[in-house]
Amino acid sequence: MALIVQKYGGTSVGSIERIQNVAHRVAKFKKAGHDVVVVVSAMSGETNRLVALAESLQEIPDPRELDVVLSTGEQVTIGLLAMALQSIGVPAKSYTGWQVKVKTDQAHTKARIESIDDAAMRQDLKEGKVVIVAGFQGIDGNGDITTLGRGGSDTSAVALAAALKADECQIYTDVDGVYTTDPRVVPEAHRLDKITFEEMLELASLGSKVLQIRSVEFAGKYRVRLRVLSSLEEGGEGTLITFEEDGNMERAIISGIAFDKNQARINIRGVPDKPGIAYQILGSIADANIEVDMIVQNVGAEGTTDFSFTVPRNDYRRALKILEDVQSNIGAGEVNGDDTVVKVSIVGMGMRSHVGVASTMFRTLAEEGINIQMISTSEIKVSVIIEEKYTELATRVLHKAFGLDKPKV
Ligand code: ASP
Ligand code: MG
Repeated sequence: MALIVQKYGGTSVGSIERIQNVAHRVAKFKKAGHDVVVVVSAMSGETNRLVALAESLQEIPDPRELDVVLSTGEQVTIGLLAMALQSIGVPAKSYTGWQVKVKTDQAHTKARIESIDDAAMRQDLKEGKVVIVAGFQGIDGNGDITTLGRGGSDTSAVALAAALKADECQIYTDVDGVYTTDPRVVPEAHRLDKITFEEMLELASLGSKVLQIRSVEFAGKYRVRLRVLSSLEEGGEGTLITFEEDGNMERAIISGIAFDKNQARINIRGVPDKPGIAYQILGSIADANIEVDMIVQNVGAEGTTDFSFTVPRNDYRRALKILEDVQSNIGAGEVNGDDTVVKVSIVGMGMRSHVGVASTMFRTLAEEGINIQMISTSEIKVSVIIEEKYTELATRVLHKAFGLDKPKV
């Protein structure tokens, strides 16, 4: 007998029929003798609808009141799922975040979980009940309702699993696991049976949308055994996120390829090459709360330097404007950029023990005539910025070059 936390996303509880399907799946685990805690999202589309209602009254909705509104979506699904379970003879009880006491900080709309009181849940489990908890929400020190940021119920589930020391946290979603890359782009992409936590963290931060990144960080911190599975299909094993590098020599060097189109590149040429310049340029961007990702500095002509960096695409215009303002202060030449670029990344633990991974990537792109504009690396990742129009081609040829194409049977 195990203690399992299961999380069902918006699509999985998107209709009464789907909620009944979830109830049957939960009942199956219960009948097999497991203790089950279920975390649910709001019905698909519901959170967006609530955001729109709030924005129809205030351009920037009051954060405290917005959380009051947003948290209602999940309150509906916990109650409905409890009813669906009861109606098939499974005792079940629902809890909002504040009823459990999922304590968070006070950062409305992006709160962080600080602690979870597991006493009531444990008592219910002991009495043979399925416990159902609203994802995405908590309560702060003032007793105000908070929410955890969009996609936050993944994090609720992992945090509950950590607090309850669950044997496994299962994230049920509309895909059947983590793929080598987006199967809509590369039909040869395949589901990974396992991926390490470090790789998953990179993939989540690189734009693979399977898990909210905070949930992966949480799983790493508390060593929660995490599995991603399909709620729409029966019997799949999904993808297990592991901690130990398995010593298997057959292991692929690269586990996955991610691409992120939410990128724009900015260049500043002819900046005087002296101390403090990087700070003046990037400090002004940071002050505007714009996140800088890749940074490259090159030697320019006659005592000057050329500077390039990337920002999220929707901050591109704002970043350019800021730099045009600091341009004369720092005596820079030209400021320009490009918001039709993409970041393509290869990720894999195998990079630690294999040399030449980056050069294989660069050669593969060169063979297709794809120009690399920027490069950044970490121990288990190589990212390049290229023209957006090459996204599909680059992903496809890299997938093949690193032997990730599904074996043809
Ligand atoms: N319902 C929330 C959202 O749509 C939380 C979640 O689904 O994880 O972002
Ligand atoms: Mg989600």
